Amino acid sequence: MKKSSIIRTAASAALCLSLTAGAVMPKQALAWDWLSAGLAMFQVGAEYAYLNKQVSYLDNKGRDEYMGQIKNKYGVNTDPTANAMLTRIMTRLSDAVALTDDSIVKKPYNYFVNNDKSFNAFCTLGHNMSVNIGAFTKLNYNEDELAFVIAHEMGHGQKNHPAAGVKRALPLSILGALYASQNRNSASSVGAALVTTIGTAKWVTKPMESQADKLAFDYAVAAGYNVGAGAALWQHILEQNGSKSSGFAELFNDHPTSVSRRDNYNKKITEWSKNQVNVNKETGLITVAGKPFYTPAKTTNMSPQEQAFLIAGNLSAVFHDGGQHDAVWTNSENVLLVGEQPVMSLDGVAEAGTVETRLRDILSSSNVRTVVTEEINDDNNSKRSTAKVKAEQKQESAAETKPMTMRQKLEAYKAQQ
Ligand SMILES: [Zn+2]
Repeated sequence: MKKSSIIRTAASAALCLSLTAGAVMPKQALAWDWLSAGLAMFQVGAEYAYLNKQVSYLDNKGRDEYMGQIKNKYGVNTDPTANAMLTRIMTRLSDAVALTDDSIVKKPYNYFVNNDKSFNAFCTLGHNMSVNIGAFTKLNYNEDELAFVIAHEMGHGQKNHPAAGVKRALPLSILGALYASQNRNSASSVGAALVTTIGTAKWVTKPMESQADKLAFDYAVAAGYNVGAGAALWQHILEQNGSKSSGFAELFNDHPTSVSRRDNYNKKITEWSKNQVNVNKETGLITVAGKPFYTPAKTTNMSPQEQAFLIAGNLSAVFHDGGQHDAVWTNSENVLLVGEQPVMSLDGVAEAGTVETRLRDILSSSNVRTVVTEEINDDNNSKRSTAKVKAEQKQESAAETKPMTMRQKLEAYKAQQ
């Protein structure tokens, strides 16, 4: 039964009731009106009760069964690089989520790479997550950017947006048909109806999207991913699809717009750096401590801006952790580092030596005094060992106060059962 007809039946029946109150009506007519009203209202209530029950089942006890339905529908992709990367990202992000949200320990994510070649990922009921193979290929397997995509989906999962979205947005016509169907007691009938729409339906609202974006930053950065990868991701999406973002990911609803999401994440880079690192979103110029540092040249895979956000994210981590005191150096793999923090690859960079010198000059002349000036006269080996000792010291002190990882929490949880 459609929503409109349910309401109409209920409303007209209610009208009949009020008119008949106190009036003498033929017994048969009165009985029919009562029955009609009761049935209509019972029907709506029962449909919602049915929906709540099924959603709750798919979200908890039946979540693995539901995952099976999703895998059948979308197909499991076996690309080894994508699968290894997804496992690595999920492990790191799950550990990061568990630092602030214990609920993930009781309901760890199910996940797989699916065969869809479009650019999308989804998290649905039961912490069931899937990433299209198209997301990997279209992001050129950039792990930092993919981590932001997946962390966004985990933001939805941790805040129970899928259940709220299904209850809000499942069309009543579908619900009515499911309820009326013969398999109303089959726990997976809502799942079967949902499984065809999860990759396309717009279940989420604008506030849900903003919340997921914010959580994505917190989770991805806590997991050690590049602070600038959120801005880089949305820069990439903008370049692929234009500002309308029509071709991309229904689940990444086009509200808030791709431009505002890129800009929000760009602001986060600057905030994280204690206002020491900026990216000009028009040109890709990176400014460090108020001084122009570097504008990346376009490569086959990335625009100057996308690269700039990633480099700025690394520099942001340097300032956030007080690492601007550390040595600026280039390792044997031609990566420019500050202490142990990689900043950028110098492969294919014109006048790489100048880039290194410029960064060293900026850091040594920035208002925070550094030990860099002493170290630039040393040879590479001693620079490296100084940086290494510092990194080891950092790791030791971190180990003392390190919170439990997801795996440790999971083991502790199991031990209690
Ligand atoms: Zn979303």
